[in-house]
Amino acid sequence: MSKLSLDIYRKKRDFSKTTEPSGSRKKSRTKLPIFVVQKHAATNLHYDVRIEINDVLVSWAVPKGPPKTIGEKHLAIRTENHPLEYATFEGIIPEGNYGAGKVKIWDSGTCQSIKYHHGKLLSLSESLKKGSLEVRMYGKKLKGSYAFIKTHLPGKQEQWLMIKIHTKKRS
Ligand code: MN
Repeated sequence: MSKLSLDIYRKKRDFSKTTEPSGSRKKSRTKLPIFVVQKHAATNLHYDVRIEINDVLVSWAVPKGPPKTIGEKHLAIRTENHPLEYATFEGIIPEGNYGAGKVKIWDSGTCQSIKYHHGKLLSLSESLKKGSLEVRMYGKKLKGSYAFIKTHLPGKQEQWLMIKIHTKKRS
């Protein structure tokens, strides 16, 4: 028996802005993970894309920002995991500090894995280990689905690609 979807309820709301419940399932008591995109005016302006996985915000710095059209690929440099509380952070990191510059939330919302492997839906955590995520994002600007693919490009940090992909219809 298939579970009733809460997708539309969630899609209509930004739970970082409303105190309405996100509608946890009574049985599992799980809710959708969060994501945030922060515009960071550091030495080089970039966008930090952060996704909640196993109680931290797994992060990528995307110099060009999230891709806008299907098939568009943008470099996403994996950065250190951030605490969940960072998702609401805005402010100016003073000069002389790591990441000095203005941080502003560009978008936030919830997300969910849509990555299948041999017919099984993988969790974000399982996908991360494979270096290949497919995430549906329910934001104000980021609507639709994105892939995060780890590349073998050389660099001090892991070089990933953030790609806008089609949202597959569930049957
Ligand atoms: Mn940054």
